[in-house]
Amino acid sequence: MLKLMRMFAGRERCAICGCFERKILCEECFAQLKFEFEKRRKGRLCRLCGKPLISEIEMCCECRENEAEIVPGRALFEYRGIGKEGIRAFKFKNERSFGVIYADFLALFLRSSEFSDSFWESDKWTAVPVPGNRKNIRLRGWDPVAVVVEDLKSRGFAAADLLERKKWGKGAVSLKMMNRQQRLCAALDSYRLREGAVVPQSVLLIDDVRTTGSTIKRCALLLKEAGAREVRWCALAETP
Ligand SMILES: [Zn+2]
Ligand SMILES: [Zn+2]
Repeated sequence: MLKLMRMFAGRERCAICGCFERKILCEECFAQLKFEFEKRRKGRLCRLCGKPLISEIEMCCECRENEAEIVPGRALFEYRGIGKEGIRAFKFKNERSFGVIYADFLALFLRSSEFSDSFWESDKWTAVPVPGNRKNIRLRGWDPVAVVVEDLKSRGFAAADLLERKKWGKGAVSLKMMNRQQRLCAALDSYRLREGAVVPQSVLLIDDVRTTGSTIKRCALLLKEAGAREVRWCALAETP
């Protein structure tokens, strides 16, 4: 009914601020997102993890210390301000159509010179979605990361759905019964390769919000064990 009324009025509400517009986002919110996107890319970022550098040169302290273990990648936005509102609109206000906006930014980034220089070499990568939480996907009816990756695919990027979350059987110990350490291990152990997955040599993991980076690390390890030579990641946002 609401949808019908919107169609009748010929207008949609902006997914972030709620004002009426013909597009998914009003001009103002889109301009703010675009500004943050450009600002982040123009700043001095760690060559490996893409975190903004303060006084360090080329690499952040963390990457310098464990260079061999770092899975290199970039997040498009910081998970705060408009960057956070965008993710919230997409994931929690159930604005599936917002996926186009993120696919736009992602495509722009993947085709940019910073992605296709010797470090990134764009064409060889296959985008692989990091699978979301099963329960959330069931409740929402769709998986935000999968929506973005599907959109990338329709723009000509190579993509493959190779990973899945494990189902916990009825006999398994409930997460509530575990201590923090056990929960962390269980969370990391909850990914696996899909049956019959053929793993390409260069995988670009796509995730929504990166926090500690442990999910990316875990998925990268799985893919490498299955034959991937190199794994990178791209997240829609990351916590500062
Ligand atoms: Zn707006
Ligand atoms: Zn770094």
